[in-house]
Amino acid sequence: MLVVEGSETARRWVAAPGSTIKPLSLLALLETDKLGGAEEYYCPGRLVLEGHALDCSHPYIGQPMNVSRAIAYSCNCAVAHFAQRFESGELGRHLVRGGLCSTTRLVGGWEGTGHVDMAAAGPACQLQALGEAGVTVTPLELLVAYRRLALRAGEARIEPIVEGLEGAVEFGTAQKAGVDRVRVAGKTGSVVTGAGAHAAWFAGFAPSRAPEVAVVVLVQGRSGGADAAPIAGQLLGGYFAGRT
Ligand SMILES: [Zn+2]
Repeated sequence: MLVVEGSETARRWVAAPGSTIKPLSLLALLETDKLGGAEEYYCPGRLVLEGHALDCSHPYIGQPMNVSRAIAYSCNCAVAHFAQRFESGELGRHLVRGGLCSTTRLVGGWEGTGHVDMAAAGPACQLQALGEAGVTVTPLELLVAYRRLALRAGEARIEPIVEGLEGAVEFGTAQKAGVDRVRVAGKTGSVVTGAGAHAAWFAGFAPSRAPEVAVVVLVQGRSGGADAAPIAGQLLGGYFAGRT
């Protein structure tokens, strides 16, 4: 661990991960051969799941979504569509295997753990894949999950995921996490906790194709892109300062 700012928050704040979970959800589908990296789906823009209004906020892009574009544009409709292929509890098992629901021991002191619904099926599983319900994490747990993703950045199967995370920073919601001359892979999330607090997330790693560092930011704020991503950009900018 290089830097921890706000160790209490990192260890104890349990919140839904929002859209930062989407790469992990799509990875679970890729790994079970339930989804191909080039498979396409036209985003209808509108989505309601169990009373949650989840319309997409990305612009009309004039082409169908695939894995990488669904991540780069944070497309709720495409992720929810593909998530219908999970069997009951299947996504939950993948998320736990990826590092959630476990103490990380990355920093000292008492550490909380989030919760993953291990029986989510149907719309509940779609909400889980979007990070809206059925899954909560601490910042440290999400950091472990993204670190594991980063360690696999060279694998062919991960390629569409990494490309999507690069796209999110290049032209999607995570642009403010960008660093000069370094390709950053990352994803934002914006959620309201059960207690009504607005939580803004960024999770990512850099350089995207040969990662050295993984970063997670969680702050009170309404927008991962506006509130969390710039902090990640500062952290990464400091780490890579002076490098060409
Ligand atoms: Zn969409």
